[in-house]
Amino acid sequence: MSMTQEDKFLDVLKVEDLMISSEKVAHVQLNNPLEHALLVLVKSGYFAVPVLDASYKLAGSISKTVILDQILGIDRFEVERLSELKVQDVMKDDVQSIRKDASFIEGLKAVIDAPYVCVIDEDDYFDGILTRRAILKEVKKDYYRA
Ligand code: AMP
Repeated sequence: MSMTQEDKFLDVLKVEDLMISSEKVAHVQLNNPLEHALLVLVKSGYFAVPVLDASYKLAGSISKTVILDQILGIDRFEVERLSELKVQDVMKDDVQSIRKDASFIEGLKAVIDAPYVCVIDEDDYFDGILTRRAILKEVKKDYYRA
């Protein structure tokens, strides 16, 4: 009898069983103006989204906090800077990533200090994201397993 993903024990689950695939992930590109990134973040409601280069390789991550911090002047937000600056000027580029075939516990460790981690293939192309929520749901399922 084959196991569905629902039945899988934590020690056989892989990151690919839990990740959100790239086509469902909101992202921005390196050369987008900050204005576009802020729109994506506000409209999606996400705290941060991945940044991809023109060939869809992972380049970094950008958050609302970083954008607001960049346009904060002495006593006002300098909103004109939103069209002057590009995503690549302010993004965080030392982001952690993980592979699809990584184990559940590797995924769990990766989201201890971050709400999500990017999943990339062997050539650094973006495959999707693994969120803390997806990991916690599996931990809860396992806790209540009969
Ligand atoms: P969650 O654990 O579902 O709250 O997601 C944690 C974080 O992952 C969110 O705050 C976003 O930064 C990111 N995230 C989750 N789902 C998506 C998505 N579909 N597209 C882009 N980013 C996402």
